[in-house]
Amino acid sequence: MTHPISRALAEVGARLAAAEAAAARPTGSVTLLAVSKTFPEAALREAYAAGARQFGENYVQELSSKASELADLPDLVWHFIGPLQSNKTRPVAELAHWVHSVDRLKIAERLAAQRPAHLPALNVCLQVNVSGEASKSGCTPDELPALARAVAALPQLALRGLMCIPEPTPDTASLAEQFALLRRLKEQLAAEGLALDTLSMGMSADLETAVAEGATLVRVGTAIFGARDYSQP
Ligand SMILES: *Cc1c(COP(=O)(O)O)cnc(C)c1O
Repeated sequence: MTHPISRALAEVGARLAAAEAAAARPTGSVTLLAVSKTFPEAALREAYAAGARQFGENYVQELSSKASELADLPDLVWHFIGPLQSNKTRPVAELAHWVHSVDRLKIAERLAAQRPAHLPALNVCLQVNVSGEASKSGCTPDELPALARAVAALPQLALRGLMCIPEPTPDTASLAEQFALLRRLKEQLAAEGLALDTLSMGMSADLETAVAEGATLVRVGTAIFGARDYSQP
């Protein structure tokens, strides 16, 4: 019998391929990030056995413990996608290959200073608040150009792109507008001479809309691993 996680991964892969085709984009051009937060080591091993290599985590402590539990899998790529406090940057600088949630210069400066010199540059996406919700993480669209220029100048960081979490809504047109804003912001940076290659947007419920608007990486948790249970320690 096919294991549930490998079957779910195949289903998400098929959704992604269909979304790429619908947007007239090459098959395989969008990276699938398996968001494994709250799931145990065994679930990540199952996803790995089914071909997943890129994993997303939201909590620093969980990234640290999983990175050591799974240290025998040398080609794993760790993406940190959660809110990052400035006093917790060190494990991320040391363990992650990517950080998607940089939204202020202080965090980027700490990551740059703490990235070990023997490692390749840490790949960074800047998180932008595209919904305008007061409670949301992310820099404002107005703050983005200056932040991007400053981060691009830091050593040991490679500024790769932009990330957003839209306001959740069943209204596909509103989601599409929020994703399109992130794409336009990336285009504006390119026009100012800052070419980036990554648009990190789209999750389990809205990956098709994100791919239609130009996502290069989708962050999918529930559709691969199932519903999360936050009551577990
Ligand atoms: C949890 C999380 C995801 C995955 O969301 P699903 O709806 O479970 O696919 C994606 N991005 C971020 C930033 C997350 O925190």
